[in-house]
Amino acid sequence: MKRTNIIDTPKKVGEKVILNGWVNARRDHGKFSFIDLRDRTGIIQIVTTEDLKPESVIEVVGKVKERPEGQNNDKLPTGKVEVEADKVTVLSKAKTLPFELDKDNISEELRMKYRYLDLRRPSMLNNLIERHKAIKFIRDFLDKEEFIEIETPILTKATPEGSRDFVVPSRLQKGSFYALPQSPQQYKQLLMVSGVEKYYQMARCFRDEDSRSDRLFGEFLQLDLEMSFVSREDVMELNERLLIDLIKTNFPKKKIQEIPFPKISYEEAMQKYKTDRPDLRKDKKDPDLMAFCWVIDWPFFEDDGGNGWTFTHNPFSAPKPEFMDDLLKKKNIKNIETSQYDVVLNGFEVGGGSIRNNTPEALKAVFEIMGYKEKEIEKSVGHMLEAFTYGAPPHGGIAWGFDRFLMTLLGGTNIREVFPFPKTSDGRDLMMGSPSKIEPKQLIELGLSVEEE
Ligand code: ASP
Repeated sequence: MKRTNIIDTPKKVGEKVILNGWVNARRDHGKFSFIDLRDRTGIIQIVTTEDLKPESVIEVVGKVKERPEGQNNDKLPTGKVEVEADKVTVLSKAKTLPFELDKDNISEELRMKYRYLDLRRPSMLNNLIERHKAIKFIRDFLDKEEFIEIETPILTKATPEGSRDFVVPSRLQKGSFYALPQSPQQYKQLLMVSGVEKYYQMARCFRDEDSRSDRLFGEFLQLDLEMSFVSREDVMELNERLLIDLIKTNFPKKKIQEIPFPKISYEEAMQKYKTDRPDLRKDKKDPDLMAFCWVIDWPFFEDDGGNGWTFTHNPFSAPKPEFMDDLLKKKNIKNIETSQYDVVLNGFEVGGGSIRNNTPEALKAVFEIMGYKEKEIEKSVGHMLEAFTYGAPPHGGIAWGFDRFLMTLLGGTNIREVFPFPKTSDGRDLMMGSPSKIEPKQLIELGLSVEEE
């Protein structure tokens, strides 16, 4: 006999089944007790005489029966039936857990230390399932649109993308370091030079910056994509369609406030809403209302706090076509607008992208405006400048902060709830105990020495 998923038990009234799962709760009734048995698909009531510890893993062999009159539980999909156990086998006995799974006010530190237990909660498991389904939807959608998913390296080179890099010491090239990618930005552009035309990747990105309730520490997931021979409108249209389709299919209860998504200029956003990521919801109390907008026409450069300029979004962006001349001549810098588009959902920036510079002259001009010397430009983007001399198609793309998007969609306010194994805000993995010291032998191999505090 094969194992039955708990959710399928109501279809098996009168039959003998084998169920596997965890003891969710126990209620003693003198001679026998009721236990709630939980597996990935649901919860069911078992009638047994065994004394079982909560959270132990068991196998139940028994008959599915209709519950006696008046004892149905309408809240459970299996609430009209129960299983009368003939045989219960304890497969793995549980100690008392460090916290109760059905309590809400448990410290996040404790939950993170025992993340594998925290993920036993049906609500957390549900987040993982929704995460999987959304990723699958995106992959299927982009596959139909003839995109190909290509993995890019995790061990790569520091990039001038604005955040702090995580670095990895090289053993073979002592004294040199890899950097983990802040995003696959340069690789995806180089793939356009390769002729891929339509690339995407569910890409891990690494940034050593402070976490917030809507920003994970250390690493996060992007839907990263890039297309050749497109305008800003083409990229926005594709992404808008994907967002709408995904929500309509996977989250049919959600209502999208306005389709097509309104497009707002940066200037208008700042004047009207005093923020560059306006929350346009007409009813902020409605948990199912999804108000998207695009924010466009951003300034390319801003004051770097000293006497120079820095980029506002992405140094690889092209200006809007009408500003290309100014960029190349490095004049009216303050007024140059970038082709950048951000997509905002309920006040959260959930994605952003741009059309890129695909000529060495234009890319170089961006770095010159930012005060880079010839040698520094060569060192940081020389390979891009060279690539653009061998036939680089016009191209553009976008990346979604997938975790933040999912958090907003699921109505949460803490991004760690939708990420399987997050770190604390001070960058620790409490379950694995990382970061951790390494052996002196490893340091020697790497040619490193560490200053003790
Ligand atoms: N690479 C950019 C980022 O990570 C997104 C993009 O412009 O495609 O924000």
